[in-house]
Amino acid sequence: MIDPSHETGDAASRAEILLWQGGYRIGIAVAIAGGSLLLRELDLVSSVSVGARWYGTDNASLLFVAATAVYLVITAAIRWHARIARAVPRALVRTQVTADALVVNVCAFLLTPPAQYDRTLIVSMFLVQFTQLYFGWRTTLFMLGSVAVCYATIVALAERARMLGAPTEQLWTFALFCLGALAYAWMLGHQGVRMKRLTHLFDKAREGEFDQPYDESRDKFPDYITQIGRAYNELRGHLETIILTDPLSGCFNRRGFKQLGDREISRGIRAKWRVAVLALDVDHFKRINDDFGHLTGDEAIKEIGALIRETARAGDVVARLGGEEFSILAPDTDEEGARHLADRILHAFRARSFVSVRGKLSITISIGVASDEASTDDVVRILTARADEALYVAKRSGRDQAVLWKTGMRAFDAATRASRELDITVGRLSREIERLP
Ligand code: GH3
Ligand code: MG
Ligand code: MG
Repeated sequence: MIDPSHETGDAASRAEILLWQGGYRIGIAVAIAGGSLLLRELDLVSSVSVGARWYGTDNASLLFVAATAVYLVITAAIRWHARIARAVPRALVRTQVTADALVVNVCAFLLTPPAQYDRTLIVSMFLVQFTQLYFGWRTTLFMLGSVAVCYATIVALAERARMLGAPTEQLWTFALFCLGALAYAWMLGHQGVRMKRLTHLFDKAREGEFDQPYDESRDKFPDYITQIGRAYNELRGHLETIILTDPLSGCFNRRGFKQLGDREISRGIRAKWRVAVLALDVDHFKRINDDFGHLTGDEAIKEIGALIRETARAGDVVARLGGEEFSILAPDTDEEGARHLADRILHAFRARSFVSVRGKLSITISIGVASDEASTDDVVRILTARADEALYVAKRSGRDQAVLWKTGMRAFDAATRASRELDITVGRLSREIERLP
């Protein structure tokens, strides 16, 4: 369904379009005016017209030149405004399309025999297409209105001058023109709406979101846009994997973690779940690099990622957030469930003989665990920070273990840090006191 309020572009893009179109308008108007006068001079076209009957042939030609000059001045002024202001209000676009419709019909009145007025409709059809393509549906309707008023006026004037044999025929032609123009404008508008849908999907894809497929069922008459939509749908799955996955470990990357996490949390908020975040960091990973080299280190990261994914449940989001640090978002999981998951992972590491280090080194992992009710959108961010604090405690307490975050954990850290700083200060003071004479 076309939204009739749909207008293409904003004031800046209207300025940009009018700027280049203005050049073409001026060129085409000068060419048509020069060509018409030349053809008349050479007697290749009829000099019969309502204007010539009323004002005389030469005066009609002069008026034609004057009308073209006024049109050129209006177009140049609008173009100048677009260049200086770099923004054009809709009213100016409408002034321009009205000037287009006017100049075509004034020329017909001054130079064309009434029997050939259909020519103005051919030119107007082109103008309607042009307007729809660049300025949207509402401006096109406005343009059609201007064409209708101008055309009805010149037909009425020809009728008054008794130069039109059958004015109703002209009106029938005009009715057909309106039907054709409306159908064409509707078609272009419809395509514009579908192209917008597609552009929206591509914009989302650029942000790493591939939730929505292109809805082919809405295309009753499949065409090239449907084909692009189909191609997008085929690519969607591959792109999602490429953009959201870390190629080394096969886990989600930071972007994938954020996106899937957001999705799970919105489900969790509706279902009033508890969610858990586990922060994992491999113990003494530097040793692997030091003893076996970086390539082996990379192989180990690959193996570690696969092991964490195997051990986590199907609905858990497992991501490598950097280096040898992983994170798991466990939906619908309370503290008890998260603790079980962490223990399973610890055991899996202890039991595994890692191929990358040829079984010569046991690899262990430390885990920080935090769980809370999924009540706000930023619960993942908060839980990640808490899980990191718990991980820090797990590292300090000897590694190869999981620690559950508890309220006050940070306070505990702060207190121990403060007491350590106090110890250092006391030690320094006593040393200085000893040195005193
Ligand atoms: P800790 O038990 O305290 O975590 O000790 P650690 O040696 O694991 O120390 P830390 O986590 O601070 O540092 C991780 C090291 O892992 C640093 C870097 O040498 C190595 N590393 C990080 N990313 C990669 C990677 O992509 N490939 C390889 N081969 N090594 C990496
Ligand atoms: Mg580490
Ligand atoms: Mg680390």
